[in-house]
This record gives sequence, C-alpha cells and structure tokens, in this order.
Amino acid sequence: MSNDNHDDSLGLHPETLAIRAGRETSQYGEHSQGLFLTSSFTYPSAEEAAALFLGQQEGYTYSRFTNPTVNAFQQRLAALEGGERCIATASGMAAIQATMLTLLKAGDHIVASQSLFGSTISLFNTVLAKFGVETTYVAPSDLDAWRAAIRPETRLLFLETPSNPLTELADIAALAELAHAHGALLVVDNCFCSPVLQQPLKLGADLVVHSATKSLDGHGRVLGGAVVGSNELVEQVYLHVRTAGPTLSAFNAWVLLSGLETLFIRMEKQCQNAQKLAEWLEKHPKIERVYFPGLASHPQYELASRQQKAGGAVLSFVVKGGREAAWKVVDGVQIISKTANLGDVKSTITHPASTTHARVTAEARERAGIVEGLLRVSVGLEHVDDLMRDLENGLSH
Ligand SMILES: *Cc1c(COP(=O)(O)O)cnc(C)c1O
Repeated sequence: MSNDNHDDSLGLHPETLAIRAGRETSQYGEHSQGLFLTSSFTYPSAEEAAALFLGQQEGYTYSRFTNPTVNAFQQRLAALEGGERCIATASGMAAIQATMLTLLKAGDHIVASQSLFGSTISLFNTVLAKFGVETTYVAPSDLDAWRAAIRPETRLLFLETPSNPLTELADIAALAELAHAHGALLVVDNCFCSPVLQQPLKLGADLVVHSATKSLDGHGRVLGGAVVGSNELVEQVYLHVRTAGPTLSAFNAWVLLSGLETLFIRMEKQCQNAQKLAEWLEKHPKIERVYFPGLASHPQYELASRQQKAGGAVLSFVVKGGREAAWKVVDGVQIISKTANLGDVKSTITHPASTTHARVTAEARERAGIVEGLLRVSVGLEHVDDLMRDLENGLSH
C-alpha cells in the first residue's frame, strides 16, 4: 500500500489537492481510489500483530479506526482545509458530538451562535446539558454579545457562517482572537461554505467540523462527517471515535472521495448561479427582501467579501403575501426539488417556518427573522435561466 500524500507544502493549488491529495493505492496500481470494504485486516505474523496493536508499527487492523479508503478521504479533506489532520465520522452530527464529548466535561460552558443547524442545538440542549455542559446562545454577528457571554468555565465557542437560512455572518478571525484571549477553543461548522469558499483554520479557528453529506458529496447520496485541525486536537477526537465508534464507512468515504474531485467546479458554478438568482430576485416586484452574502445590500457585505470567496450556493428571500404566497411558490415549481437538503447539484426549495423551524414557537421565529413569507433555495447546477423560469412560475400563480 502506498500513499501519495500531496499537501500544501508542495505548493499545489486546492483544485489539484481535491483530486490528487491522499490517494491510497495497492500493489495493483489501480488508478481510481480502491474501495477497501473489509472490517478487519490480517497480519503476516504474531509478532507484527503485537506491534500493530501496540502502535509500534503503522498499518491497518480494524475498520472502526483505520481503513485505507477512509484514510484517503481524511487526508484529502485535511489538505483542503489546511489542517494537519482529519478524522472522518458517520455523519455531520457524529462529528459535532465526537468533538464535544472529547473536548468538554461536566461543568464546562459553550458560547454558541443562536443560528445553528437544528440538530446541533438539540444536541447541545439535551445530550450535552444532561452531562452538565451548559450552552449560551448569541447572535452570530454581535461580537459584544459573544464577549459578554464568556465565563471562567467557557471552554469553547461554536458557530456556523453564514447562518441558515438568513445568511448572517460571524467574523471568524475576531472570534478566534476572543476565544484564545479567554483560553477557549473556536470550533467552526464549515458545511455551508466548504473549504472552497472559506478555510476557518487559516483564520484562527482551532477545529473545523463538516457535514460531508452536503456539498462535499454534492449529489445527496451518502451521510458523512469530519473533524479537521491540529495533530494534537484531532488525535484526541480520533481516540474518542476509535473507542466510541461513530466511524465513517469505507463505502461512504469512497463516494465522498469522488464528490471531492468535482467540489471546486461544482461550488464555483453553483455560486455563480446563486449570485445571478439573488440579483434577479432582488429586482422582482413580488419579493420583499433577499438574503445573500454576495449582494451589496447584505448588511455584512464587507465582511463577506473579506471572509468568503463568493456569496455561497444558498440564498433566502421573503415573498410578499406571507405563508400563502410562499407555499404557492413551493407548489408552483416543477424543476427545483421540494426538500430540506442542501449543497446538492439539484436545486432545492424549503419553507423554513413550516419545516426546518416548525418546532420553534411562532414568536421566537418572528424574532429570529424566520417570517411566514421566507423561502430558502439551495442553488444547484441546472441552467440558471431554467431556475429563474421555474421560480417565476411559482411567483406568478
Ligand atoms: C446537515 C448539517 C449538519 C448535520 O449533518 P448530518 O450529516 O446530517 O449529520 C450539521 N451542520 C450543518 C450546518 C448542516 O447543514
């Protein structure tokens, strides 16, 4: 088994790393990444088995913690995020859970953005709370609120940027500085931007977590997750995953590796489509407001231009006429899929107030800006004119 571990030190462009970094090839010299669908590995002798188990010899023993296909995915994503090491997990939630259970103990405190993926908030409020870890939520863009929420027992700051669905940004570099000044770590869920648009580790974050289910796969096929960062921190998360077992399957890693090969070209085109759609929607007479970091009207346009390479592939907009008008758009589209998934080459549309945010009370929703007329579109790779015509059909009903 050999490994072409191309990394940043070779001066390769990220587009090249997405295709070439971390390939694991067998003695057969297969050109595409081999799928090592095996739970365990055999040893040439009792002595080598002993050395492998003691960690004195590098090699594969058991796929809960070491598998060549999963390893290839880990090395490639580490290279793309500019991290020293990556550990892959069964899903994005498994990555977040593993990170939290590794780094925190009873009595510790988290300061988190209030605009997080719903299951992340549930994880913090149920699982972590049960084990004595408390979370304070703040508006992602309000630096003073982050500062005011920090306590002596704060161990970790956690955020997503831009937020879902209102595309509110958090300033990663400023929050990394704040965390470090208080002896805390900054963990960034980089699912929305992917390393194509933003590399949080380079802005000072300590760990990046991913739902590989979204744009890393890009075709809505498999679940996966990952944690990327320094050798020291990721080693701790690795020891947790090795013991607790929320491991990425070799098959899913193999699918995700092919997703990574087209990540750049997909993200670039999807961002272009989203930009065009956002500009078109902003001028549409039936639209009240568009939320998209690539528009000059975005309240944090300056930060977005500095922090992200493009506006992203997800946008939201408020249709005049509340829920009734918004549902007409959802029911009127024929190309765009009616599903909550995002980051797919197939565009999707959702009505957050009645789906992803339905369990939040109506007042809390309004306060957070998730109004009844709000729709979220994850923009895919279809021709942008077809997407506009599809939305126009929905809007003109
Ligand atoms: C989907 C998502 C997750 C969870 O990922 P799964 O792979 O579904 O477990 C976490 N964070 C964000 C921002 C997501 O969109």
